Amino acid sequence: MLLAQILFVALLVTAITRFSRMVRKIRRNILLGRDERISGDRWQRWKNVLLLAFGQKKMFRNWIPAVLHLFVYLGFIIINIEIVEIILDGVLGTHRLFLPYLKGVYPVFISAFEVLAVLVIVACAVFLIRRNILHVKRFTQPEMTRWPRQDANNILIFEIILMLLFLTMNTSDQALQMHHAPHYVHTGRFLISYPLAQEFSHLSNGSLVALERGAWWLHIAGVLFFLNYLPYSKHFHILLAFPNTYYASLDPKSRMPVMESIVPEVRNMLGLPEEAASDGSSMPAHFGARDVFDLSWRHLLAAYSCTECGRCTAACPANLTGKKLSPRKIMMDTRDRLEEVGRNIDQHGQFVDDGKSLLNYISEEELRACTTCQACVEECPVSISPLAIILELRRYLVMEAAQTPQDWNAMFTSIENNGAPWAFPPDQRDQWTASL
Ligand code: SF4
Ligand code: SF4
Repeated sequence: MLLAQILFVALLVTAITRFSRMVRKIRRNILLGRDERISGDRWQRWKNVLLLAFGQKKMFRNWIPAVLHLFVYLGFIIINIEIVEIILDGVLGTHRLFLPYLKGVYPVFISAFEVLAVLVIVACAVFLIRRNILHVKRFTQPEMTRWPRQDANNILIFEIILMLLFLTMNTSDQALQMHHAPHYVHTGRFLISYPLAQEFSHLSNGSLVALERGAWWLHIAGVLFFLNYLPYSKHFHILLAFPNTYYASLDPKSRMPVMESIVPEVRNMLGLPEEAASDGSSMPAHFGARDVFDLSWRHLLAAYSCTECGRCTAACPANLTGKKLSPRKIMMDTRDRLEEVGRNIDQHGQFVDDGKSLLNYISEEELRACTTCQACVEECPVSISPLAIILELRRYLVMEAAQTPQDWNAMFTSIENNGAPWAFPPDQRDQWTASL
C-alpha cells in the first residue's frame, strides 16, 4: 500500500508542478500586452461572470447544443468533486474516505455523479457526430483544420474515456461489495453501476480488484494528464472564461475605444484644453497594433479564452457573404502569434526580433472586410470582442503603415478637413435643400 501511495504522490506532484509552470508561461504571455486599467461597475462585472461564465446565458439561444454543453460543463465541475475523494484516498491509502462522514447521503451523491457521467458520454458522442459526420458548417471552416479540429475531437474522446473509467471503477467496486471482499466497504447501491455490477458478479475477486484498481489508476492518471493537456488546448477556456467575462468591456457596444495616443492632438485641433490620459494606461509603441505587444493584456487574455465555437463567424456578415474574414480566426491567430512569441522568449531568455508580426497571420484583406457591425461581439458566449483587435490592427495599417486603398484617401481628407466623409464643408451641407 505504501508503494502505491508514494507512486500516487509522485504522480500528483509532477502533474501539478508541470501545470503550474504552463500557467505561469501563459500569464507571462498575457502580460506581454500593454497595460490597460480596468474601471467600471464591479457588481456589473460579477453579474456578467455569474450569468455568462457560470450560467452560460448566451448558450441558451440554441437549446439543443446548449443543454448538451451544460451536461459536459456540469459533468466537468461536479464530477471533479469526486476527484477530491480519489486524490485523498490516493494520498492517505484509504478507500472511499467520505463514506463514514456522508453515510446514507454518499450513495445519493455517487448516483448523481454516475447519471451525469452517462449524460456527458451521450453529449460528447452527439458533439463528435455533429463535428465529424454531420459536418456542421461552423466546425468545418478553413481555420478548423489540423490541430484545432484534432484538439476538439481529442477532448471529446478523452472525456468519454474518463467517464467510462469512472463507471467501470464503480461497477467493479459494487461487484466486490456483493462478494463481501475485504477492504471494499459497503456503500449502498449506486444508480447506474449497481445494475451493471450484476453482470460482472461472476468474475473472481482477483479479476474484479484488477479491474477496479486499473480503472481507478487510469481515471486519476487521465484526469492529471487532462490537466496538463489544457494549456495546449482551446479548452483552457474552461478556466479563463471567468476572468475574461469579468474584465470584458462594459461600454455600450456601439462605442469604439478611444486612442489615447492621439487624444492630445485631437483636443488641440478642436481648441480644447490639454488633459492627462483618462485612465493612466501605458501608451502603445505604435498607433494601433502591429504585433501582440501593441495589444492590451485584455485582448491577449481574450485570445486564450476563445472556445473556437465559431458563433462569431456564423453571425459575421462579411463571412456570410463569402469574404475571407472570420472573427474566430482573428482570435486563433492572435493566440498562435502570442504562443510563437512565448516560445521565442523561452528559447532566448527575452524576445529576439523574428521579423514577423501579427500581420503575418492576419491579412489586410481580412481586416478590411470587417463592417464593424459588432455581431461577433454580441454572439460570443464568453464576452470576447474580435472587433477590438481588428480595429487596432486597422488603425496601425492606416495611421502608421499608410496602407490604405486609394479610394479611402479622399474620404480621410474629407474627414480631416470637413469633419465628415463627404466633400462639403459643414456650412454647405444643407445647400441641397434650397431647391426644394
Ligand atoms: S464586427 Fe466585423 S468581424 Fe465582427 S461580425 Fe461584424 S463584420 Fe464580422
Ligand atoms: S470569439 Fe467567442 S464566439 Fe468567436 S469562436 Fe471565440 S468564443 Fe466563440
